[in-house]
Amino acid sequence: MNEFEVIERYFRRPPRNGDVRIGIGDDGAVVAPAAGMEYVLTVDMLVEGRHFAAGADPRQLGHKTLAVNLSDLAAMGALPRFVLLAGALPVAEPDWLQAFMRGFDALAAQYDVELIGGDTTRGPRTFCVTAIGELPAGTAITRGGANPGDTIFVSGRLGDAALALAVAGRRVEVDPMLLPALQRRLDAPEPRVALGVALRGVASSALDVSDGLTGDLRHILDASRVGATIDLAAIPCSDALRALARGPQRPLALACLLAGGDDYELCFTATPAMRERVDALAHALSVPLTPIGAITAEPGLAIRDEHGAPMASLPHAFDHFA
Ligand SMILES: [Mg+2]
Repeated sequence: MNEFEVIERYFRRPPRNGDVRIGIGDDGAVVAPAAGMEYVLTVDMLVEGRHFAAGADPRQLGHKTLAVNLSDLAAMGALPRFVLLAGALPVAEPDWLQAFMRGFDALAAQYDVELIGGDTTRGPRTFCVTAIGELPAGTAITRGGANPGDTIFVSGRLGDAALALAVAGRRVEVDPMLLPALQRRLDAPEPRVALGVALRGVASSALDVSDGLTGDLRHILDASRVGATIDLAAIPCSDALRALARGPQRPLALACLLAGGDDYELCFTATPAMRERVDALAHALSVPLTPIGAITAEPGLAIRDEHGAPMASLPHAFDHFA
């Protein structure tokens, strides 16, 4: 198959949404924003050997490639609308491509996201997605709006994806019964799209936890010029991780919980007056939203352990260039 056959067979589809004037097949796509709306644009790259293992399941990879981008849009409060997909492949294997696009398309269909452009080339396996989301003008949730006294929340629970990676790397063992659920968190993250949209006008700041809670939270603190105190015992996590944190594997468990990447949960702040609305959202969306600490005027991030004592050293968040 040549490049154009790959595009025709796996990527081309007729435009669906009325605001897509020109979709895949021309030199560029043309979309018309609705009156009073703004677009949020984000791009993310996944490289074999860096973000996913060689031999990774193509269908799950197709899902995850899109999911990480939808997660970034959710963190801004944007409703995902359009995506562009660029991929490098060592060879164009029809079965592999079909499975990859099945995973990608299933998630795209779930959120009514339209693929409007892309590119393919031969090379080490790499995928790059540009996602475009929509929101009413001026309502984007940024990292810079947190204020002293705000409560810090996280959605779902943290650390399971990193724990799955640690198990795969034989650095720790867990009950085999728990493995499928952990592995799903790593391979098939669910972006918090509905939550992100619902947090417009509720959250003072937000981001998605992709590189680990402490490292990501620091982005909010830096952008908002504030500090934070969080309680280790309040951070929601699985029973497996909580049990590990009580034993000899505590350092690894804390690293998963505080600095483990790939969770794709949302971390956000809100004023205490918003507490009832946050609780109502959690109920309406069936997503646990757990308060884990508070924003402080003093800069820096302090974490209190299970006994209320300050933790001296914190595990480092993932840094691709570290
Ligand atoms: Mg992000």
